[in-house]
Amino acid sequence: MRVHILGSGTSSGVPVIGCHCSVCRSSDPKNQRTRASIAVSEAGRTVMIDTSPEMRLQVIRAGIEDIDGLLYSHMHADHTAGFDDLRAFFFKTRRPLDCYLLPEYFEELKTRFRYAFVDLGYHGVTPQVNLHAIPDESFHFAGFDIEPVRLQHGNVPSCGFRFGRFAYVTDFKNFPLKKIEEWRGKIDVMVASGIHFGTHTTHSVIPETLQLFDDLAVKRGIISHLAHDVDYVEHAALLPNFAEYAFDGMTIDLEALVS
Ligand SMILES: [Zn+2]
Ligand SMILES: [Zn+2]
Ligand SMILES: [Zn+2]
Repeated sequence: MRVHILGSGTSSGVPVIGCHCSVCRSSDPKNQRTRASIAVSEAGRTVMIDTSPEMRLQVIRAGIEDIDGLLYSHMHADHTAGFDDLRAFFFKTRRPLDCYLLPEYFEELKTRFRYAFVDLGYHGVTPQVNLHAIPDESFHFAGFDIEPVRLQHGNVPSCGFRFGRFAYVTDFKNFPLKKIEEWRGKIDVMVASGIHFGTHTTHSVIPETLQLFDDLAVKRGIISHLAHDVDYVEHAALLPNFAEYAFDGMTIDLEALVS
């Protein structure tokens, strides 16, 4: 199983428009972050999580030509704004893409991208997706066994996903204790949002995310959804040995790590 970090940035991306801080001015590509998204590939099949505003560029950079399924964590714009670029997969495959999202988000997605779900007389090709509700329990999708975890993200829900010994959780404040008990010791690599070292009302920040890695006993914890407060090199020393920062274009090979 290979994980592609398509984007590692928080909602504003890094550099932030108009910001002159040292990270925003950094020439290190690891300090240049598009909005958060990943793809998970195994045995020739790929599932993508979220459609960030930079989705097209992310997918091209990762060398992904086609995906077999799409999962949405939640509907915030930094996770959905690239939806229209799903058209490219339809051009290639000529079949609609299966997409899982929390059932309460069906109407929000359909309202946001109404032209893709209602015939408005548009003559071009709109994104073609079949929507499915993320169930409460594990489900099989596009060749993967996926266990969802429902998370609270301020006043909206978000969904994290476990693919065997890999998990991706983004945009959450607290992780349910019951899932910590269930998942503890089962995850080798986890990518989770962490933003920065400050405080945040709707997001887990880096010290909280590190605590989560510890609670779950993950072997390798990768912190993503990073703001411009975090310098990839300068702030690496603030992390324990088992943790690191995600960066755009990072790939993680699960088998190589676990063996
Ligand atoms: Zn976000
Ligand atoms: Zn900045
Ligand atoms: Zn969010």
